Amino acid sequence: MNPVYARMGTTIFEAMSARARATGAINLGQGFPEAQGPADILDAAARALTEKSNQYPPMLGIPELRAAVAAHYAGHQGLDLTADDVIVTSGATEALAAALLALVSPGDEVILFQPLYDAYLPLVERAGGVAKLVRLSPPDWRVTAEMLDAAWSPKTRLLLLNSPLNPSASMAGPEELSVIARFCVDRDVTAICDEVWEELVFDGAAHVSLMAQPGMRERTVKIGSAGKMFALTGWKVGWMCAAPELAKGLAKAHQFLTFTTPPNLQWAAAYGLGKDKAWFDAERAVFQRSRDRLVAGLEAAGYVTLPSAATYFVSIDLTASGIGLDDVTFCDRMIDEAGVAAIPVSAFYAEDPVTNVVRLCFAKSDATLDAAIERLAAFRAKLA
Ligand code: PMP
Repeated sequence: MNPVYARMGTTIFEAMSARARATGAINLGQGFPEAQGPADILDAAARALTEKSNQYPPMLGIPELRAAVAAHYAGHQGLDLTADDVIVTSGATEALAAALLALVSPGDEVILFQPLYDAYLPLVERAGGVAKLVRLSPPDWRVTAEMLDAAWSPKTRLLLLNSPLNPSASMAGPEELSVIARFCVDRDVTAICDEVWEELVFDGAAHVSLMAQPGMRERTVKIGSAGKMFALTGWKVGWMCAAPELAKGLAKAHQFLTFTTPPNLQWAAAYGLGKDKAWFDAERAVFQRSRDRLVAGLEAAGYVTLPSAATYFVSIDLTASGIGLDDVTFCDRMIDEAGVAAIPVSAFYAEDPVTNVVRLCFAKSDATLDAAIERLAAFRAKLA
């Protein structure tokens, strides 16, 4: 086995979900919605399965989906993309793998921000890259010019940004985006921007892409996911968008990873992307309501939470809550004693972890959230 994989355990999401299944715990660990998903999009997928071709679609994606992605980003984020800039992938995970395989040569340095989505580091290392880790910390998880300058070396080729950021539920603000863009332009660094949470931003905020910053249109790979956008995480339909020079390399890597993605799901994603802004606003409102319900319940039970600006997640700050346990111990005891699974945020750090933050998923029914809150309230009382 390659040493990158030999020293690695099973991903924390799978491990926690397996424990939740085995013990019957309420699973607020892995980030997936409890609801069935939008009926008309499911119907579009079902109809496409029987009415359209089930043979290999074009390697770059069906033209209708590529056009729908470009049109969606023009309408929602003011980007000047065309269908030619879009490559459909089997989830954002495949897009990340393809982008890193295409753009990293052995010895290249790649700037990654901790907390990091767990796929990033093994993918960078398997591509022969050297990760330069920038540590972000609560409560604001802010990226500064000083951090970027300290991480840079003449070997720096890439920077991988996740915004909105899983697990912190924060987003890079205008000043951070401008700092990151200036760094990339001045140092001739290409950015891969994982924006899978772009439609799940709350409180009236608008998602702004790194690609929209001055000088970034030609040096950004923007990654999105239909699974996240339409609350259908099992679909694994994603895409990467980039200017032609970058897209050429991305397409070569993609053709020998998965080559294509199930065509009926591509048709349904194209249909979904065509929905108007009001539909996306209504979707957001549903998740925002669930966020508010879980936050109110946790706060009433004596937990202090960190702000959740986006994603399906909110975090408990153990220190601020007056709980003297580290996040792993807290999650272990929570699943065993309270019957609720969550994710310790230290799992998102490869070194020097933040150990006092625990991530919970609020994309659940009211009944599930209320049951979890009741269990967590009893657990909090026991810890006091
Ligand atoms: N990037 C981030 C930051 C994510 O949170 C996720 C899913 N949790 C992914 C990528 C993977 O997306 P997909 O399921 O489309 O592969």
